[in-house]
Amino acid sequence: MRIGILGAGQLAQLLAHSAYTLGFETLCYAESSQQPATRNSPLFIGELKDNKRLQEFLSKVDLITIENENIEVETLQFLESHLPLLPNSKAIGITQDRLLEKQFFKSLNIPTTEFIAIDSLTALDSASKQLPFPALLKTRRFGYDGKGQVKLSTAHQTSSAWKTINEMPAILENFIAFDTEVSIIGARNAAKQISCYPLITNHHEQGVLRISTLSTTPHSLQQQAENHLSTVLKELDYIGVLAIEFFVKNNQLYANEMAPRVHNSGHLTLEAFSCSQFELHLRALANLPLPTLHLKQPTAMINLISKLPDNKLFLKEPNLHFYDYGKLARPYRKLGHITITNNNVQALNEKAIQIHQSVTDLK
Ligand code: AMP
Repeated sequence: MRIGILGAGQLAQLLAHSAYTLGFETLCYAESSQQPATRNSPLFIGELKDNKRLQEFLSKVDLITIENENIEVETLQFLESHLPLLPNSKAIGITQDRLLEKQFFKSLNIPTTEFIAIDSLTALDSASKQLPFPALLKTRRFGYDGKGQVKLSTAHQTSSAWKTINEMPAILENFIAFDTEVSIIGARNAAKQISCYPLITNHHEQGVLRISTLSTTPHSLQQQAENHLSTVLKELDYIGVLAIEFFVKNNQLYANEMAPRVHNSGHLTLEAFSCSQFELHLRALANLPLPTLHLKQPTAMINLISKLPDNKLFLKEPNLHFYDYGKLARPYRKLGHITITNNNVQALNEKAIQIHQSVTDLK
């Protein structure tokens, strides 16, 4: 089986690594050759708008998956008309637009923050009278890691906020003083089997994920999250791994957004579980049985952002893994991550914070 991956960043790199452990091959479609996935997979160079190149790519793979949801739906539909695209273009199309995503959550009775669609300054002015402050203005598309977002504290800020997001179609959303943030990650295969991990707790700074740990949230929240995930997977006839991020407030979940792919918060599954999110995704694509996900060892993950520290400073720890994506350093860019394991969860989480503080260098 040869799996075509659209994109060749770190998620494709880690998928390719897992593909090797299943005896699968990968081929990554990328617009340039300087890509993290080159370490683990051959690349196929082409523009995403070039249907002729895409057609050649199609002839070399058995199915297609993605590592980034921001691909034009027309391109996805073109690919899907020739080979299985997993997950499908409908699912990817919803997740790449915050308004469609929020409306989708609402239609399934999955609680989410209040929101209003914005397509002009007049609409923003009127929405700012309907939602309480503080509120967040978020572009509908291409927003990630807190990009394309502005926090509004008063009605006087609408005009500058509208300019800051370059007058792009957006949503205005309730700012929620959450207790914590969590994500649920799971997969569904063509045999309709669903498997998911326990909730993961996520700590963000300046909109960027910094630390992920296994959640110690009540069982009821796990049940709620699993139900929401299953509802979405079934509704979209989804195949592959899906992640949903939630805010937790007073033991209630509020869906923030979802990702139709393996997810940064799931990197800890590499060391924590009997099957990682990368293997789980590939198993789902190939319609293999999805394994029960056994916890092997409590694990925490720390993102390495902006500047990669020297691995020698960390590798004296025998229970630590250092992932270097092989990317050029840039402010706020995710360059790698560390996972550490320890049966003593309190000591583990303290160590994760300590490592995070030692590597924090946002510029
Ligand atoms: P997003 O790009 O929507 O994932 O936002 C990035 C981060 O910004 C989230 O993980 C939260 O930490 C924060 N954030 C986003 N939306 C809200 C909100 N409505 N209320 C409070 N914090 C938010």
